[in-house]
Amino acid sequence: MAYVIAAPCIADYSCVDICPVDCISPHPSEAAFDDAEQLYIDPDKCVNCGACVDVCPASAIFESSELPGRWAHYAEINRQYFETGNA
Ligand code: SF4
Ligand code: SF4
Repeated sequence: MAYVIAAPCIADYSCVDICPVDCISPHPSEAAFDDAEQLYIDPDKCVNCGACVDVCPASAIFESSELPGRWAHYAEINRQYFETGNA
């Protein structure tokens, strides 16, 4: 179980600074950030604190079990971002 960033993300990185375990990527200091359409949460590092949800201006972050059906595949999209070495 982890939190997941879905389609509404506008990549403003409000969530990056609030995350206590630094599991949201890409960070604005990374080259990948310039081309990022959205940010992603590493499901293996997320500690499910929920802090990122409250700061997101786009309501793009969901606990994985509460993802709206049309965005259910974003759990895998977030995981794959880290498994394919983009992080
Ligand atoms: S739920 Fe907590 S640990 Fe997980 S991404 Fe959000 S702020 Fe980070
Ligand atoms: S706060 Fe929300 S909109 Fe901003 S980068 Fe994080 S998930 Fe995306």
